[in-house]
Formats: sequence, C-alpha cells, structure tokens
Amino acid sequence: MARRLRCYDCGNAYDCKDRTRCSCGEPLWFDVDAAGFEWPNEPRSAGMWRYRDVLPVRNGDGPVPGPTPLVRADRLDEYAGCRLSLKHEGVNPTGSFKDRGTAVGVAAAVDAGDEWIGTVSHGNMALSTSAYAAAAGLDCAVFVPADTPPERLKLIARHDPCIFRVDGDYGQLYADTLDLDTEVTFVNSDTPLRVAGQKTIAYEISNARPRPPPTRSRSQSAVAATRARFGRRCANSRRRA
Ligand SMILES: [Zn+2]
Repeated sequence: MARRLRCYDCGNAYDCKDRTRCSCGEPLWFDVDAAGFEWPNEPRSAGMWRYRDVLPVRNGDGPVPGPTPLVRADRLDEYAGCRLSLKHEGVNPTGSFKDRGTAVGVAAAVDAGDEWIGTVSHGNMALSTSAYAAAAGLDCAVFVPADTPPERLKLIARHDPCIFRVDGDYGQLYADTLDLDTEVTFVNSDTPLRVAGQKTIAYEISNARPRPPPTRSRSQSAVAATRARFGRRCANSRRRA
C-alpha cells in the first residue's frame, strides 16, 4: 500500500495525502511499501485494480483501465536498437493512458468522501476526468484554455462537467490550481494520485514479461513537460529572490 508522499528531489516525506508539492517546490510521489507484495493472481478483467495493494486507494470501482496489449513493432526494431513493443493505451475506456491516473484520483476522492474532482486540460484528461466522475457520482470541474476548439469542448461536455474556459496557457492554469483554496480534488499532470495510477503501465509490462522486468519504460505524456516548466519557474524564482 502506498502510504507516504516523498519528494524525490530533496527527500522530504509527508503523511498528508492531498498535498501536491514539496516545500522545496518539486512534485511529490507516493512511496510504495513493497514488503510482502506478490504479483497478483486476480483475473485480467480486474484491469489495473489488480495492483490495488500498491495504490493509495482502499477501493476501486467504475470503468476499469487496463490491461492493455503490448503490440510488437518489429519494423521499428532496427531504429530502436532493440525488440520494441508498444503499449496500446488507446483501448482504455476513454481512449487514453490518462484513465489510469483519473481512476486513482476518483477512487481516492470517493474514499475521502469528497464531492468534487477537477483537472486542467486541453482535452483528453478533461474527457477522462469527467467520464470517471460521472460514473462515480462526483461533480466535476474542468479548466480549459479559452482557445480550446469547440469540437473538443463538445466531447468534454458529454459527461456534463462544469467547464471553465480560462485565459492563459496550460502551465499557468496548472499553477493557479495549486494555489486555489477549494474543495475540488485536482488530478493534474504530475499530482501524486495521477502518477500512482500511471505507474500501473509499468506493473502490467512487468507482469506480462518473463523476469527480469524492464529497466526502463517511457510514457508519452505531458508530465515531463510540466515538470520542466515548473523546474524553470522555480529556478527563475530562486534567481529573483
Ligand atoms: Zn523537496
């Protein structure tokens, strides 16, 4: 069970599950207590909830992300310099890997008795969050840039969230939600709940492959970009101080 939040930059640890940032400004991650952990024997239909024991939730219900197939990409082997397989996350309920982080965020909100969940997104995460919130009976707030195309807004609106169109870029919207005094539980790109859910991609790969597990995996996501932006913001702040 993941219990504590830890900063992998300075090592500070926190018990408060809804904290999203270390006092040094860096993102936090859930420490996993792997003592006694065994690879689950639950049926594959349990999807990512097979790994519930190492996720920061008590339960998990609603649409189930995973397991997603590993697809061989032999035509890319020579380019990659190895036997390359791709994890096809498009078969998740709303069509993206973002469902994994959303599922954990929504389950944690239900565990805590929260009524609202929210996100800042250009599209896929807003669709995912609103769909899982609707399935769990939670209210949902999504913040999108004011210039989000109407076709994308129409998709997001299918699950009836409160949509706020806000001037400013994605990074600025994200930063603003960190400072909001609100009862909305935000599952943004590098919030610990969301990252905990996305780790299940690596668990599935390890579970599907003969030992030893892969030493490296790569997830195409906005997380790295957001971290880089925040790193630059913090560095600039420190220089100005
Ligand atoms: Zn820190």
